[in-house]
Amino acid sequence: MKRLCFGGSFNPVHHGHLICARAVAEARGFERVVLIPSALPPHKLQSGDVAPAEHRVEMCRRAVAGVPLFEVSEVEQARGGPSYTIDTVRSFRQQGWTHIVWLIGADMVASLPDWHQPQDLLREVEWVIMARYGSAMDWQKLPEAYRRLEGNVVEAPLIDISASGIRRRIADGRSARFLTPDAV
Ligand code: ATP
Repeated sequence: MKRLCFGGSFNPVHHGHLICARAVAEARGFERVVLIPSALPPHKLQSGDVAPAEHRVEMCRRAVAGVPLFEVSEVEQARGGPSYTIDTVRSFRQQGWTHIVWLIGADMVASLPDWHQPQDLLREVEWVIMARYGSAMDWQKLPEAYRRLEGNVVEAPLIDISASGIRRRIADGRSARFLTPDAV
């Protein structure tokens, strides 16, 4: 099975995630997209704005219920502690996955050198990068080793939806309809 890993805080999961991941899977021939909600997102530890992990997992489950392209992994909840991607990659390898492909939005690329054990991540993972609405990439600003990832960018629909935008709407008493599946 050709799987595409897609991690995030998914706070909440939304149509931007789902439409773009499906587009990438279709373009690159992936049979399964594995949504991997973080337990404790390392880059959002201070924010205090993150719903409990079990709620974010459940929202992912409901969003993709009955859709064979998607599955939800609870590997990061099972492990506990900060959700470092390199640990998740290694646990998938222990389960016998020989090749790990990991999808991220363009807004995340600049932060990659600050992820836990970044050299290992560069070596052990094939990164696929999807364009994101409002996120231009400045490859020249990245350390040399990361610039070659420019060749891994795939076209994806540009969808102006973010989880923070949805949270803001809800805080303002506005509806989140049309931005995320009704089940979420
Ligand atoms: P927040 O607004 O709270 O920062 P988010 O909408 O960026 O959240 P995350 O769960 O943090 O959602 O994102 C998980 C992954 O999905 C990241 O790699 C991010 O770049 C990507 N992503 C999120 N929204 C989009 C979108 N609209 N288009 C393309 N990629 C997206």
